[in-house]
Amino acid sequence: MLKMNNVSKVFQTQMIETHALRDVNIEIKQGEFVSVTGPSGSGKTTFLNLAGLLENLTAGQYILDGEDVSQLSDNNLSEIRNEKIGFIFQSFNLLPELSIFDNVDVPLRYRGFARAERKKRIEEALEIVGLSSRKDHSPTQLSGGQQQRVAIARAIAGEPKIILADEPTGNLDSLMARQVMELLEKINQNGTTIIMVTHDPALAKRAHREIQIFDGQVNSQETIDTTGETNEALVSA
Ligand code: ATP
Repeated sequence: MLKMNNVSKVFQTQMIETHALRDVNIEIKQGEFVSVTGPSGSGKTTFLNLAGLLENLTAGQYILDGEDVSQLSDNNLSEIRNEKIGFIFQSFNLLPELSIFDNVDVPLRYRGFARAERKKRIEEALEIVGLSSRKDHSPTQLSGGQQQRVAIARAIAGEPKIILADEPTGNLDSLMARQVMELLEKINQNGTTIIMVTHDPALAKRAHREIQIFDGQVNSQETIDTTGETNEALVSA
């Protein structure tokens, strides 16, 4: 699904070079649920942004869904991103002036789907996140956990193969965080690959695999799932 070979990312600002990622080698299979952990500034968001084609890599090779995307033009990258990747952010990023329904519609309109197809996808996505009855409400009328569920509906309505979530529970209390995590697990059980950055060790351990990033270097660790079975490990440099 996703394979990075010797990927590095260097940010250059004036005279300062920051090596945000160094020689990352990682493979994530379709249907995996992977957590990404590590200290502040270690490179987690940079990793997610490279995986999500939001940033260009400085060196190395990135194969996404069988295609080498390392050297593609920005137009090609945004087409692949829109078709294959859904994003969820800590801050929900909903538009308060739009209804819940219209918020979920934004990326579908952008991609040019016909009205009937959009309506079907939005209704299915809101059903999955349990917010069908709130579709005409404003995001400001919802709790934080409900707003994040709308953001998840917006991500899954595009039927992505992969969801990238940057601290999706970071702004939520523990009950709401658990509900959002359970929802992500349900979506993953339907075959969607999930990569989730989190500072919460308990949530990280619920993934199939934990990728730890220290000072731009990646170390992949198996985790023990809730049934006590050990998940397969893929170890990288
Ligand atoms: P946090 O947990 O605090 O969000 P992180 O692990 O996600 O941190 P990144 O945001 O990936 O870390 O940053 C990795 C390094 O790259 C840091 O040293 C950061 O300052 C630097 N960096 C990130 N984005 C840029 C940028 N656009 N320009 C310059 N340096 C950057």
